[in-house]
Amino acid sequence: MKFKLKTKLSMTIAFVALLTVFLISVFSNVFVNRQFKGYKISQSVQNAREIINSLSLQYSQSTKTWDADFVHTIGMQALSDGYILKLKDNSGKVIWDAETCDMTSCLQLVSRMTLEMKERSPGMNGKFISTAHEVTVNQVKIGELEIKSFSPYYLSESDLIFVKGLNTILLGIGAISLMISILIGIWFARRLSDPILKTIAVTKQIAGGNYSANISDKTNTLEVLELMESVNMLAESLDKQETIRKQLTADVAHELRTPLTTLQTHIEAMLEGVWEPTPERLQSCHDEVIRLSRMVSDLDSLAKVESGNMALNLEKINLYDIAKSVVLGFETQIVDKMLDVSIEGKHPDIYADKDRIHQVLVNLLSNAIKYTPDRGRIAIKLSETNENIIFSIKDNGIGISESDLPYIFERFYRADKSRNRMTGGSGIGLAIVKSIITAHGGKVSVKSGLNEGSEFILEFPR
Ligand code: ADP
Repeated sequence: MKFKLKTKLSMTIAFVALLTVFLISVFSNVFVNRQFKGYKISQSVQNAREIINSLSLQYSQSTKTWDADFVHTIGMQALSDGYILKLKDNSGKVIWDAETCDMTSCLQLVSRMTLEMKERSPGMNGKFISTAHEVTVNQVKIGELEIKSFSPYYLSESDLIFVKGLNTILLGIGAISLMISILIGIWFARRLSDPILKTIAVTKQIAGGNYSANISDKTNTLEVLELMESVNMLAESLDKQETIRKQLTADVAHELRTPLTTLQTHIEAMLEGVWEPTPERLQSCHDEVIRLSRMVSDLDSLAKVESGNMALNLEKINLYDIAKSVVLGFETQIVDKMLDVSIEGKHPDIYADKDRIHQVLVNLLSNAIKYTPDRGRIAIKLSETNENIIFSIKDNGIGISESDLPYIFERFYRADKSRNRMTGGSGIGLAIVKSIITAHGGKVSVKSGLNEGSEFILEFPR
């Protein structure tokens, strides 16, 4: 079963509130009843003490007699309060006895109270118990009083109403607190779920291709805030990807148009008989086709690198060894152009993607070879500082003018288009170099001047 977050939260809060209120009601009920029982027991002890006290006042020390009228009044009053008295003097002679005085009332009292208590407190099992007390004046015993009363305590009608009223009030407080907690719970659940609902709505917009959608709401729930920020970041990154993709498509179309038009016009001229299909002309068309297919494979690499999801397969690799194998790969061209290529310096290990770093060095060395005239010099140097491992490749070739220098890492940028057409460059190689090095957390820079040669420097963080 699936629930909405709001429902789930509200239900949990309501359940916790219900449980709390229930426990508080049960405990307070038990506690109130127990306290009240204690109060009633101490009250009957107090009553007995008062009866004894008032009886002792009816004794005359001088005549050694009791005031019979007052004793009778006290006895009858006690009887109406639920106490059956029997007063004896020191010799054991009965001064006053409720049962002899008014047997019927006594029996009625016993049966009424027993019956009432059976009804009011069924589990109590109370009964009339008689207790003997000394009656004293100035600490001298003047007689003995037997008090028969309902034990352990008796609850009158008003006592019962009081306890019931108290319990009703407690229950009422419980019900009100329950309602308030549920309302607060619903409000709180809504406050928490609203920003999540908004985030879901924006995520759906993003999924529908609206990358400019963004969550501007603020919340003080840390996790939800992080979720919102992540969604915003996701939208931003998708937007960037989209722009790159569109730009790339536009650039590719632009770059492909020129060679395709050249090919088209040349082939049409030959088909229409305007041009003789000489081997030179066919060779030129073939060169153009080769250039196009190289551009396509360059674009393929660039697309992979720039799509941002280039998964780097990091491993410990030795830059020196890679440089050496790259140089070996270009041996034919190096020999053809009679170039002097050297590798010197440290043999540092770095954590990097071997194939990608290989590609970087291939691009840099192929440029150096391309843009360096015959008998030129190419020096590869490896060094390290406290923070970085540095790879540099320096040639004494044609160099790059100051005006071109800031743009050479941009894709399709070629310093001198006509010159590059001859050398077969597409202007993608350095863009790939930059993307790969950036993805490794490194930096690429260049020092060059027209006719002064160029030096490309790669810095890898340790
Ligand atoms: P390309 O395929 O045209 O060589 P790159 O992106 O590799 O594309 O290089 C961009 C431009 O930078 C080149 O067209 C060239 O003008 C310039 N360049 C790159 N490397 C060198 C170098 N070693 N010497 C002179 N110019 C260079």
